[in-house]
Amino acid sequence: MIPIDLRSDTVTRPALAMREAMFYAEVGDDGYGEDPTVNRLEQLAAELCGKEAGLFVSSGTQGNQIAVMVHAGRGQEVICDYQAHMFNSETGGISALSGAQPCPVMAPDGKLTPELIEPAIRERKMNAPQTALITVENTHNAAGGVYYTPAELGAVHALAAEYGIPVHMDGARVANAAVAQGLPLAELARHADSMQMCLSKGLCAPVGSVLVGSAEFIRQARRYRRLLGGGMRQAGILAAAGIVALETMLPRLADDHRNAGQLAQAIATTRLRIDLERVQTNIVLFDTAPLGVSAAEFIVRLREHGILAGNAYGRNKVRMVTHHDVSAGQIEYTISVIQRLAGEAC
Ligand SMILES: *Cc1c(COP(=O)(O)O)cnc(C)c1O
Repeated sequence: MIPIDLRSDTVTRPALAMREAMFYAEVGDDGYGEDPTVNRLEQLAAELCGKEAGLFVSSGTQGNQIAVMVHAGRGQEVICDYQAHMFNSETGGISALSGAQPCPVMAPDGKLTPELIEPAIRERKMNAPQTALITVENTHNAAGGVYYTPAELGAVHALAAEYGIPVHMDGARVANAAVAQGLPLAELARHADSMQMCLSKGLCAPVGSVLVGSAEFIRQARRYRRLLGGGMRQAGILAAAGIVALETMLPRLADDHRNAGQLAQAIATTRLRIDLERVQTNIVLFDTAPLGVSAAEFIVRLREHGILAGNAYGRNKVRMVTHHDVSAGQIEYTISVIQRLAGEAC
């Protein structure tokens, strides 16, 4: 039996339409700016996000770290929340690549607000690091897929503008944030000076992310991509799948959100602990502590029934992510297994 893989939406395989587009993709040497398919993807991403320009990068991590390299440098500081992917899951890239240091802020649900950010902005003193960048993560991975509304982003952006500090959005799953709120991507991207969006998660492309921003930002970003060894050649083969992702895969994210909602509602009827208010997109985080078992033990039991889940963010936290390759029927089966393992509420 093929397992039901709920570890992440990164496990999605390219859809048939993507494989066809890849097969027939027109290509050239992107090092000379001559790959028409890469150029089309970059232009499409920029248009959808309401930005001047785009850059195809090999991963979300590369996109985020290039953005930090453009915005911040040695002796400077990057404000992020303490659960941010850019802080915890990019192998220390902020300090290793830019020479800036992260300034992690405690934000209980992962979301930064002007009230949380303002005290972290440094005074202009000779001996203090200088705040060079504010980053927001939308949707927030470790907080369980919660999204920022345009109003929340606008408030952060306004504060940043007051201090003359740019904002970068880690929009690995910004497409989920947009679909969940019924908004175009540009409504979320307009509150960031630069944004990274993954094509290879819920949008099903095999490889890559797009980085968007002003023409000048992208010009510099292109240099740093080269520095990181991310300059590619006939990358249109990959970009072709990204175009299919952006043109066709957004509306169906609503199915993933519906599946996650159903899964979460069912989990809430068991002794497992879950915060339903945090289940806003395609991520379901729950706590096994009330059962007296660790997440690792619970995950082993799930695997015995052909279900794969992830253990992240603590001893008792199980993470399930819904996506294109998991059907509503498979979610129903998963619910029945969880109910059996966890027991109904009394
Ligand atoms: C997955 C993810 C990334 C990085 O993407 P990769 O393509 O895996 O490098 C960055 N930020 C968030 C919030 C993510 O979930």
